[in-house]
Amino acid sequence: MKDINQLKNKAEWIVQSRNKEIRINIDKDEIDWNKTFNFIMLKNEELNLETTTKNMKRRSYRVKNFLEELPTLEMINKRNNNEEDNTCMRCKMDNENWNHIWECENNTITLYDIVQENIQKNIENLKKKNIYINEEIWKERITNIIRKIYD
Ligand SMILES: [Zn+2]
Repeated sequence: MKDINQLKNKAEWIVQSRNKEIRINIDKDEIDWNKTFNFIMLKNEELNLETTTKNMKRRSYRVKNFLEELPTLEMINKRNNNEEDNTCMRCKMDNENWNHIWECENNTITLYDIVQENIQKNIENLKKKNIYINEEIWKERITNIIRKIYD
């Protein structure tokens, strides 16, 4: 009886440490920083002259967003040395800072929507390369990775 328990414990320990190893590797390897950078700089999109100004603005928005420098009320007032109210104009519940923009309940587009939309785009891009994946599992995995980064 004791031996069986010992075996069981050992098996559980192996499974657990294996899981831990997988989890660590997800954090290390599954964020492709080059692709993230290319996404910000619009490197994957076809550029033409007519859209240059528009693209500049989009690129600038993405860089600022990435650096957490979107012109929030808090940011603008601080920059102008204004001691004015930073309360979010949409919900009037909290200061409008970088975090609040994504968390504001009166924001019609949630961070979740943005993430889901981009995962869907990612799946469509993979399909174009004839890579078919289990969409459910794929979405869940990416959502979990992102949630982990956020927590
Ligand atoms: Zn708000």
